[in-house]
Amino acid sequence: MSSVDEIKSRIDIVDLVSETVQLRRSGKSYTGFCPFHPNSRTPAFVVFPESGTWRCFGQCNEGGDIFKFVMKKEGWDFPDALRYLAERAGVQLKVPTPEEQAAAEEHGELRSLLEEAAIFYRSQLVSTNLGKEALAYLRNQRGLKDETLEAFGLGYAPAGWESTTQHFRSKGYNDEMLLACGLVTQGESGGIHDRFRHRVIFPIRDERGRMAGFGARILNPDDVPKFLNSPQTALFDKGRLLYGLDRARKPIRTQDQAVIVEGYLDVIALHQAGFANAVSPMGTALTEQQLYLLKRFSRRIVLALDSDAAGDKATLRGLQIARQAMDHEQELGFDARGLLRQEARLKADIRVSVLPEGLDPDEVVNRDPDAWQRLLKEARPIVIHVMETLASGQNLDDPKVKNEIAAQILPLIEDVPSPIERDTYRQRLARLLRVHESSLMTSQPGASRSRDNKRGRPVVGRQGQPQSKRQTMTEATSPAMSTYLLEAHCLGVLLRRPDLLYQVDRSLQEAKLSRLVAEDFQHGDHQAIFRLLEESVEQDIAEPFNFVVNSLSLPMMELADGILARTTKLDPNDERVLEDLLRGVLDLRRRSLVQNIEYMRFLLEEAQVQGDLLATQYMQTLVKQNNLLLSLDQALGQYTSRSIRPR
Ligand SMILES: [Zn+2]
Repeated sequence: MSSVDEIKSRIDIVDLVSETVQLRRSGKSYTGFCPFHPNSRTPAFVVFPESGTWRCFGQCNEGGDIFKFVMKKEGWDFPDALRYLAERAGVQLKVPTPEEQAAAEEHGELRSLLEEAAIFYRSQLVSTNLGKEALAYLRNQRGLKDETLEAFGLGYAPAGWESTTQHFRSKGYNDEMLLACGLVTQGESGGIHDRFRHRVIFPIRDERGRMAGFGARILNPDDVPKFLNSPQTALFDKGRLLYGLDRARKPIRTQDQAVIVEGYLDVIALHQAGFANAVSPMGTALTEQQLYLLKRFSRRIVLALDSDAAGDKATLRGLQIARQAMDHEQELGFDARGLLRQEARLKADIRVSVLPEGLDPDEVVNRDPDAWQRLLKEARPIVIHVMETLASGQNLDDPKVKNEIAAQILPLIEDVPSPIERDTYRQRLARLLRVHESSLMTSQPGASRSRDNKRGRPVVGRQGQPQSKRQTMTEATSPAMSTYLLEAHCLGVLLRRPDLLYQVDRSLQEAKLSRLVAEDFQHGDHQAIFRLLEESVEQDIAEPFNFVVNSLSLPMMELADGILARTTKLDPNDERVLEDLLRGVLDLRRRSLVQNIEYMRFLLEEAQVQGDLLATQYMQTLVKQNNLLLSLDQALGQYTSRSIRPR
C-alpha cells in the first residue's frame, strides 16, 4: 500500500471536512455550506463518504479527495498536503535517498557560491569607478534610494572578460562549479569567461529567499542583449521563478492580490513606492508554474501590461504569445486563451490592466502613486479586455465586423467555467455588438437541443439512466475503488505514452467534449501526476517520460511505480491503446457526471418543495448536465462499437 493509500484509509473524509464545515446527513452523503465560496442559502457542498470525495455544486463547481480539500483550504501544493495529512494520519513518509541527499548538498554549495557572487557584484557597485557610474545611473536616472538598492542587493558586473572568473578562481572555486551556477560561459575553444560584463546585476532569489541566479541589464546602450539572465542551471529555471517574490510573498498574502509587471526595475520601483505586491516573470511569457507559485499566496492576480503588448490586435487575434524581436525581450506574453484556461484550472481571478501609452510602471508610480492604485482597481477580466480591445476603433455597424469579433470572443467565453460569468460576458458582448443575445447562443452545441426539449425537462429518466446504451469499464469491488483503479489505469497508459495526451484531446474535441484536465481525476495524487504529464509534453528538455520521473518527489515516485505496475501487460504500441484510454477517460467523466446529476436532482427537489428561486438555476444546470451525458454516451458508444479488444 502506498503512503497515499494508507493516509486515505486512515483519515475519514467526513471527520476532516467537519472541522471546517458543519455537515448534515442526507441519504448516503453529507451536505453543508461550501467553505470556498460565500453562500448561506443552499448547502451546495457535499461529501460522499463512500468514494472519499467531496464536491461543491455551487459557484466553485469543483471537488476531489481529502488531499484536494486540504490543498484548496490551505492554498498548498500536493506535497504540502501530503506532509500534513501524513503527520495527521501517523504515516511515515520515506526519507530521502543518498542520491537525493547528494543533490541537495550540491545545490547548497552552488547557492553559497551565488551568495558570494552577489556580495562580490555589490562591492563592485560601491567601490570601483565604473561601478560608481552604474550607481549614479540607478540613483539619478531610475530614482532608486540607497536602502532600496541594498534591500534588492543590486550590484555591478565588472567590464573585463575574466574579472569575475579570476576573483572566484583565486578563492579556490573550480571552473566546473563556476559553470554549474551560470556565472561564466564556455567559449568554443573550451576556455571560460565572465557571463556578465559591465552590467547592472539583479540577484534573483526563489520564493523562500534562496539565491537562484542573476539578471543583468546593459549600461552601454550599444550592448546587446538589453537583458541577460543566468542560463538554465540546477537552481535557475526561469519559468519557475518570479523576480521579487521573496519580498512580495507576504504583501501578496496580506493584500490578497499579486501584480505582475514586466521587468526587474518595475518591481523595484513599485516596492520602493510602497506597492510591495509586485513580481516579474523576467521577460518570459507567463508560465503555468509561475501562476501556480503565485496562487499559493493569492488567487487574485493582475497583469499590468504596457499599452503595446495589451493592445496589440494581432496578438489578440491570434491569441498567441507574441515572442517578437530581440528588443522585445521584456515583453510579457499575453495569451488570453491560455490565461483563461489557467485561471479556470487554478480557480484564480486573473485580470488585465493597461498602462498609459508610453509609460512603464515605475514612471506611473513615480509621477503619482494614486494613479497606480486606480490602474489596479480598473483591471478588467481577460475576456472583457479582449472584447473591448478588439472592438475599439472598429465600425460596429458592419455585420461582418460584428461576426468577426463574435467569432473571436465566443470561444473564449465558452472556456469560462462559471455559467453565471459566461452569461454575463455573453450579455456584455451582445450589448457591445448591439445584437440580440440569442443570436450569440445559436453557435453553441447543446443549447438548441435543450430548447427542442419540452419545457427544458431533463432527458434522463429517474434512475439516472440515459436513453442511450450504457457502457462501463470492468467492475471492481466497490464503485469508489473501481474509479480509483480506472484513474490509475488511464494515468498508467499516459505515463507510458505521454504523446497520447494530444490524441485524446483531439478525439474529445472531435466529439465536442472539452479536453482532458487534471480535474477529470478525483484523487489529488492523480491530479498531481497528471499535471506533471501535461508539463512533460509541453517542454523539450527531456523525453516526457524521463521528465515526469525526474520531477517526482519520493512519495510521488512510489505512487507512480504503483500506477506503472498496473499497466505492465500493456503493449504501448498497440493501436487499440488509444481507444482503451479514451473509453477510460469518458467513463471517468461519466461516473462523476452521474453522481453530480443525482445530487443536482436532489437539490432541485428540495428547492422546489421550499419554493426556492434557485430551482430554475438547478433545472438549467441539470439540463446542461444531461446534454453532456448524452454527448458522453454517444462518444462512448462510438469507441465501444469500434473496439476489437474483448474485455
Ligand atoms: Zn463552493
